[in-house]
Amino acid sequence: MTSNTPSSLSRCAHLVRAWPDIADPVSLFCGSYAQARQRFRSAAQRRGLEVESSVLDGAGVDGEELAVDVVCDGAADATRLLIVISGVHGPEGYCGSAIQTGLLELGPPEGLVDRPVRETAVLHIHALNPWGFSHSRRVTQENVDLNRNCVDFTAPLPVNAAYAEIHDLLLPATWPPAPAVEEALAAYAERVGPKGMQRALALGQYAYPNGMFYGGQAPAWSHRTLRAILHRHGRRCRQIASIDIHTGLGPYGDGERIFASPEQGAPVFERACQWWGTLTSVHTGSSSSVPMTGPVQFAQFDECPQAEQTNICLEFGTWPMEQVQQALRAEHWTWRHGADATRTAAARAALKAAFYPDAADWKAAVWRQGREACMQALAGLQCVSL
Ligand SMILES: [Zn+2]
Repeated sequence: MTSNTPSSLSRCAHLVRAWPDIADPVSLFCGSYAQARQRFRSAAQRRGLEVESSVLDGAGVDGEELAVDVVCDGAADATRLLIVISGVHGPEGYCGSAIQTGLLELGPPEGLVDRPVRETAVLHIHALNPWGFSHSRRVTQENVDLNRNCVDFTAPLPVNAAYAEIHDLLLPATWPPAPAVEEALAAYAERVGPKGMQRALALGQYAYPNGMFYGGQAPAWSHRTLRAILHRHGRRCRQIASIDIHTGLGPYGDGERIFASPEQGAPVFERACQWWGTLTSVHTGSSSSVPMTGPVQFAQFDECPQAEQTNICLEFGTWPMEQVQQALRAEHWTWRHGADATRTAAARAALKAAFYPDAADWKAAVWRQGREACMQALAGLQCVSL
């Protein structure tokens, strides 16, 4: 059993506030996967940190190499580990990549806490879905939603009967959808309510390989890569915290901290709240997100069962949900129906814009909250007794 004492946490919080900042955080945000990767790798190299790359077969949108890049900022034998993940959902990676690069540029919190720094490290997993990041698709090259793919494929797969009801309406034969299609979808939403509609769409489904929010029939390449990374870096740890960074849900620029632990129960939730303050939960309805099958934290629990884990998703709002959902449908439609290159490129540009506002105020807000959440996690990790 472990504990945090309020006095040590408030002291850590004070030290977090004293942490230096980046002079021009907006410049951390890049315009393409290739640029974001380059920026991340350069920041690591300037610090003398090794970059481990898992290279994916196949090229990016501009012919570039695609890879999941991993940097461990701290001692390789650290027993306390903060894992920061970007790009689970393709173009949401711009946001997480900027936070990771900023943290690398800031450097470790040396001298800020009494506990030896070598006990704590930050593991950056950059662009977990590099194909989707580069090509501006939410899903992987297998059309898999990575955050629905971490299920036990040896057991019967979850059934999402609600998705089955709306699949043909979400992706009709023609686009834009006929008025009758949109009316039928609106009638469904009216019947089940906004949360019911969101659950039907986003819970995850395993029956329509060409459909949306598809969880797959086997672990995707990115899922297998994640497990190998966690196996390599997480097995030695006694305390793990993770922050999985997403965008597209909630009010513009607002970083919602969503409790993300397969292990439910009061002690872990309370510990997480001590570290990060108020957290929302998909299980109580307090979150702008909804429960999902097979999120990446399940792989983390499987691969590092020896560690006590404290995890959140950090979800940054962009635009209204209907607008984001419409961009997802339109892009998915072009992929499913093999639309021509011009139409596909336009739909993907719109998808990128839906998940990545090109606005200085949004970027500055993202950095401020991302830095704070990561520093709070480090403070929590360093204060918790083993
Ligand atoms: Zn996401």
